[in-house]
Amino acid sequence: MPAIRVLDDHLVNRIAAGEVVERPASVVKELVENSLDALASTIEIALEDGGRRLIRVADDGSGMERDDALLALERHATSKLSRFEDLDAIETLGFRGEALPSIAAVSRFVLTTAARDGDGTEIVVRGGRIESVREIGCPRGTSVAVAGLFASVPARRKFLRGAPTELAHVVRMVSRFALAHPEVRFRLDHEGRRLLDAPPAVDRAERVAQILGRESAAKLLPFQRALPGIEAHGFVGRPVDASPRRDQQHLFVNGRAVQDRVLSHAAGEAYAHAVARGLHPALILFVEIDPARVDVNVHPQKTEVRFARSSEVHDAVRDAIASALSSAGAVPELRDLRPRTNPEPAYAATAAAAWRGPATLAEKAPASLLDEGSPAVEPGRRAVPLAQYRDSYIVAQDALGILLVDQHVAHERVLFERYLAEVERDAVPVQRLLFPVTVELPRDEAVLAAAEAEELRRLGFVLEAFGGNTIRLDAVPAFAREVAPEALFRTLIGEAARTRSVATGVPELRRRLVTSASCQAAIKVNYPLTHEGMQRLLDDLFVTDNPTTCPHGRPILFRLTLDEIERAFRRR
Ligand code: ADP
Ligand code: MG
Repeated sequence: MPAIRVLDDHLVNRIAAGEVVERPASVVKELVENSLDALASTIEIALEDGGRRLIRVADDGSGMERDDALLALERHATSKLSRFEDLDAIETLGFRGEALPSIAAVSRFVLTTAARDGDGTEIVVRGGRIESVREIGCPRGTSVAVAGLFASVPARRKFLRGAPTELAHVVRMVSRFALAHPEVRFRLDHEGRRLLDAPPAVDRAERVAQILGRESAAKLLPFQRALPGIEAHGFVGRPVDASPRRDQQHLFVNGRAVQDRVLSHAAGEAYAHAVARGLHPALILFVEIDPARVDVNVHPQKTEVRFARSSEVHDAVRDAIASALSSAGAVPELRDLRPRTNPEPAYAATAAAAWRGPATLAEKAPASLLDEGSPAVEPGRRAVPLAQYRDSYIVAQDALGILLVDQHVAHERVLFERYLAEVERDAVPVQRLLFPVTVELPRDEAVLAAAEAEELRRLGFVLEAFGGNTIRLDAVPAFAREVAPEALFRTLIGEAARTRSVATGVPELRRRLVTSASCQAAIKVNYPLTHEGMQRLLDDLFVTDNPTTCPHGRPILFRLTLDEIERAFRRR
């Protein structure tokens, strides 16, 4: 046996890199944590080839003096921890002092940093050894470029997935940082395309809207519960919007994204009664806890934590979420998260503008019925909404009488015609998914999806088939962005599998698929609409080819004519 010897630093770094650095997202994680620890107010991340070719993270934080910058590249060099006791009360994100040397050991690495404007240092590291150090003029802050991750370590390089997958991991990672730090501006670019731009947000709700999109954010229920030494707060999705995907859940402890069984279990208990098995509502959970009561040092990537007195944490989290869900019917103020202009979908309600309910009906309806000069009786077919009944039916008037319109089937008709026309022109606007969805399908459907990828693309579903039973969904038709993409795709491919034999030719199949997608994407009943939203829906409906019957053959509206009304009241 060879003699025992101490490993040289370079080798130790390479080994450590295996713990800290797994893929581009973990590099981004370490670099962004450093930027946050340096109190940056702007953090810009740029990638090429999903981070496989290049990762650059630039911040406007404290920066480093030349000597500190050189020291930072040495193993266990950290400015954040000097005494053993400090381990109990860590508030910064990094503290092991191994990230920079580990990353530098497995890439071509350039650190540019300045503690004062114009007075900077650039250090180039290749193969783990410092190649050059020079002065450069750059603004205060730090920029780290990591090129060719694992290029020199083929055994690890081959574990990297394709660019889209690696990119998706980075997007998730950056989104989580952005959720945890609303005061910091985050930007993420991939090959010149801006994927995320979150300017400093006034509060968490605003940041959540920036990251999840206004419409999704508006559907979330906020919660908050404080006990001595612990606070649980955040946002949970409504049970009706729950999806099979757990990755819509983001957990944070003291500003750090974590995976933790205690917390997910607590969340699960909170919604167990409201949500079907296997489904999970979206969840953004922040736990603020006395640092002495949580150990963050149990995992090299610091994604796992251990709580002292974990049952207290568990119950606080469960109760906080449960109370939000139980009062879900009684929290209209959430709709305030919706933007006042251009709501998505176009018909959605805002609290201020929602115009419905008996009081409003009594106030407004008689006036506009009597007011002959109002647009209500303008010539042509324009129907004007009077009220929304049970959040499901639009009561409207037109030149002939009073209309009762089923909002779901009306919207379905509108979507159907537009969508079909777009498919015919091969011009369906698509929405790229921030997080591509992996869908596991029955074998026959997976084969069908692969074989019909081109037709599906025409329908607005961009997917990649991996062989086997799995496909990855990268984009969906833009009009369907409100719908759980996986459920929508499953319905569609299920429908295609069912009808392929019976449908005669492409046009018929297309029609069926378009029908099915439109139905799923259309606004549902029990969904409040604004007055403007109702007007737009009616206007859209009456320019369709068939405003009275939905694509499935159900009636969309019925009319009580003035003549019928007058007869009923024996005025005639
Ligand atoms: P750790 O974050 O665990 O201390 P790192 O290897 O990530 O270890 O970083 C080493 C040191 O380099 C940090 O402690 C910090 O002093 C300095 N440093 C790293 N990145 C930055 C940055 N973006 N801005 C300012 N200082 C930084
Ligand atoms: Mg660090």
